[in-house]
Amino acid sequence: MQELRSYVEGRWVAGTGSPQTLFNPATEEPLARASSEGIDLAAALAHARRAGGPALRALGFAGRAALLKSMADAMQAHRDELLELGIANGGNTRSDAKFDVDGAIQTLLAYAETGAALGAARFLMDGEGIQLGRSVRFHGQHVMVPRQGVAVHVNAFNFPAWGFAEKAAVALLAGMPVLAKPATSSALVAHRVTELIVQNKLLPEGALSLLVGSPRDLVSMLGAQDVLAFTGSGDVGKSIRKLPNISEHSVRVNVEADSLNAAVLGPDVEPASDMYETFLKDVVRDMTQKAGQKCTAIRRVLVPRQHAATVRDDISGLLAGVKVGNPAIEETRMGPLATASQLADAREGVQRLGGKLAFGSTAPVSPKGFFMSPVLVEEPGDAVHKHEVFGPVASLLPYAQEPGGIVARGNGGLVCSLYSDDAAWIEEMFLCIAPHHGRIFLGHPKIELSPGPGTVLPQLVHGGPGRAGGGEELGGPRGLAFYMQRVALEGSRPVISKLLGKPA
Ligand code: NAP
Repeated sequence: MQELRSYVEGRWVAGTGSPQTLFNPATEEPLARASSEGIDLAAALAHARRAGGPALRALGFAGRAALLKSMADAMQAHRDELLELGIANGGNTRSDAKFDVDGAIQTLLAYAETGAALGAARFLMDGEGIQLGRSVRFHGQHVMVPRQGVAVHVNAFNFPAWGFAEKAAVALLAGMPVLAKPATSSALVAHRVTELIVQNKLLPEGALSLLVGSPRDLVSMLGAQDVLAFTGSGDVGKSIRKLPNISEHSVRVNVEADSLNAAVLGPDVEPASDMYETFLKDVVRDMTQKAGQKCTAIRRVLVPRQHAATVRDDISGLLAGVKVGNPAIEETRMGPLATASQLADAREGVQRLGGKLAFGSTAPVSPKGFFMSPVLVEEPGDAVHKHEVFGPVASLLPYAQEPGGIVARGNGGLVCSLYSDDAAWIEEMFLCIAPHHGRIFLGHPKIELSPGPGTVLPQLVHGGPGRAGGGEELGGPRGLAFYMQRVALEGSRPVISKLLGKPA
């Protein structure tokens, strides 16, 4: 069995103590073991700050962009191997694994392009210069400079490649070294990506560290120049925010947590229309892709009351055609949940939702593996607006009027999707639900190869208020701000212009 090591202080280090075992969730075969015990976390952080930070900052944006491009190329060259690891360790179908690995490569490439366009600069101008006094001489300009700490990235289990890459791309481009801590249960993919980067010497010494196994007290060691980007459950997010060092040193924290994403079918949409078919496709894709283990997956399906029975039957009909099984077998359309505890949580979550099961059940699917059938819930209780079931589960919510109020009961979400051709209805809904979301997806049958609401694109922000953690990642150059300090330069215009290399 493979013993995973952490990459810290520029070398691979094995943990001590009792390791955690990583499994194949389809067969329950043990694949690897990981432990972070005995690893000097303070020294790992110090090395990243001391060696990685200065090396990255010296490069400027275009130089750092070239690093991202080389990371993407290395992943592309080993794509098949990474897909196989995602299938074995994540319970991903090949299509799920591509979603993760290709998403990672595309995000690295997108940020490589963003960085190349920023040129050799080592800081970013934020807006235009401002005349501050009566004469043009007294001048101000906002500028962003890289922070001098380390960017700690704590990731969830569901996107081991994309989660690693989407965070690393932005931090490295901004000029901060990264210490990545993948979720232990699915760490094989991020571990292999790190091996590729290290073997091929793609990054300067100290620019990337990897911690496998428990995070221990890593987050408690962060200081004023460090940042933490956390993706995972709301409960862990809350506990992190309460750590004394986080408030004492004003450590910048970004939390991406759970979300009760809604899809709303407009009152104007007739069953069997193209818009209706687009809606059905998006709902079923989100329920079954990665076995519903996507933070952006549709959990609440809002439909006009008069169409509720038709929608229920149509979704059920499509779910009946989804073959659940070992993702290593080609015809499988949905794999298992990632771990035994995820399966137990999802089953328990279905009970918590209450109501009736219009499709599927929580009964065991096979004697081995963490499988569950897709489940469509009808007439759920209030828990549908409070509890995220992180699996292939969605609830049908018929509405008579004002679906926006129902959507907002989710208390903050990553994405809400609307399906309608009625511009006035879309505008009303947009104004009602936009403050509660990070992204609004307007589904339309004419969008070619639409990825649906569940796909996060590097050009647009990802995150959401309230329950979703209050975070914001990606969004093209916007994402860089988290890793940089915005500073107001105030003084003589010629001096500032000279400093910034602008015409006076
Ligand atoms: P989790 O149990 O909260 O774990 C997430 C990560 O946090 C793992 O790397 C975990 O390490 C680490 N961790 C656990 N306790 C910690 C602590 N006290 N301090 C620092 N790190 C700690 O979540 P998960 O089960 O992996 O992921 C599922 C959840 O993530 C779902 O609720 C889902 O909605 C959410 N999610 C959100 C997004 C988003 O972008 N908003 C994306 C994906 C997933 P170990 O694995 O070693 O325990």
